[in-house]
Amino acid sequence: MKIICIGRNYAEHAKELDNPLPKKPLYFLKPDSAILPKNNPFFIPEFSKEIHYELEIVLKINRIGRHIEARFAHKYFEEIGLGIDFTARDIQQQCKEKGHPWEKAKGFDGSAPLGELVNKSEFSNLANINFSLTQNGVTKQKGNTGDMIFSFNEIISYVSKFMTLKIGDLIYTGTPAGVGPVSQNDLLEGFIEDKKMLSCRIK
Ligand code: ZN
Repeated sequence: MKIICIGRNYAEHAKELDNPLPKKPLYFLKPDSAILPKNNPFFIPEFSKEIHYELEIVLKINRIGRHIEARFAHKYFEEIGLGIDFTARDIQQQCKEKGHPWEKAKGFDGSAPLGELVNKSEFSNLANINFSLTQNGVTKQKGNTGDMIFSFNEIISYVSKFMTLKIGDLIYTGTPAGVGPVSQNDLLEGFIEDKKMLSCRIK
């Protein structure tokens, strides 16, 4: 399986990192070894001095497809949940300056904690889901899927023009504003509406 991550999908987040708004979805991949299963601790890697959390809504692809039209894209995922796109911001900055790929900063082992997944039918409107992240009990990120620049369906349609989506693939759909650094012993918790879906201790 592969992990597809969407960058700069919330205008306020693009602004906070001084990035222009994309005209088309911007995506990158993480390897399967990036997955950190439910509630496992995250160990700060020795190569970075600045690991940032990015809380994101995650879709799980449930059928194989390519060149999927946006109007059919809803048939390609059933479950959604929360994940964190851990980013070595210092390394990413170096990569950006040199015009190098981001994989070193984004695709390291354990960089993709994944919480509980639930059936999307639990939500009456996928374009109006509130989600939030707390760090040691303090709310740091608040998002609503209505603020995405590219919807779930647009993302699936766009990415599937370039690569086949397979059963079990995960799409991290972008982070809202409020990203920031983690420190040892922090507790990160992710919520959809009021339900806790993810918990991750930093070691
Ligand atoms: Zn991200």
